[in-house]
Amino acid sequence: TTFQELGLSAGTLEALESKGFESPTPIQERTIPLLLQGNIDIVGQAQTGTGKTAAFGLPIIETVQEKGGRVQALILTPTRELAIQVADEINSLKGNKRIRIIPVYGGQAIHMQFKALKRGVDVIVGTPGRIMDHMKRGTLKLDQLDFFVLDEADEMCNMGFVDDVREILASANTDRRTLLFSATMPREVMRIATEFMRDYETVTV
Ligand code: AMP
Repeated sequence: TTFQELGLSAGTLEALESKGFESPTPIQERTIPLLLQGNIDIVGQAQTGTGKTAAFGLPIIETVQEKGGRVQALILTPTRELAIQVADEINSLKGNKRIRIIPVYGGQAIHMQFKALKRGVDVIVGTPGRIMDHMKRGTLKLDQLDFFVLDEADEMCNMGFVDDVREILASANTDRRTLLFSATMPREVMRIATEFMRDYETVTV
């Protein structure tokens, strides 16, 4: 299978080429067409290193509107390192599309984040504690999301973020797509899927 066959746009194909990605990984092959074609939720069981970031990042890039004037996608990650890595990866895949993707995590100066959020951001990659903080301060609105992604959901639970994650999920608009990625599927993770996701497809690699 080629990236072209997955239904990606010319601009994205160009970005993939300059990044040196020659062909899709198994999780990309299975999730990208599903996400481009239908309004469905996905639970993906995949380890790091499988290409899961591009698996959800590419459909987000294709869907996000330029000058949308709202946060269109939120990606929650367990650590600041992963937030930075995921934001960098999506940025490197966006090609010429004029969309703003930023990481938002604890430890980073909050007034800088206020500024960035005020300027307008399309895609946020954040850690649960800091995202909650912004929601409570009213500096971040999650009422018009197209995508809500939980990355490394099992790690977020292991690190004690499950209550924050649940609260953020409950506060966001429900007419969104929810994508959950996790290396393992403990009961806590399955419960999140059952309570906060619509009928979903399961993809295991
Ligand atoms: P991830 O599992 O998303 O952390 O990705 C692991 C690494 O594989 C990252 O360095 C990606 O840039 C790279 N990668 C993802 N998809 C592909 C692909 N289709 N071809 C080559 N490298 C890839």
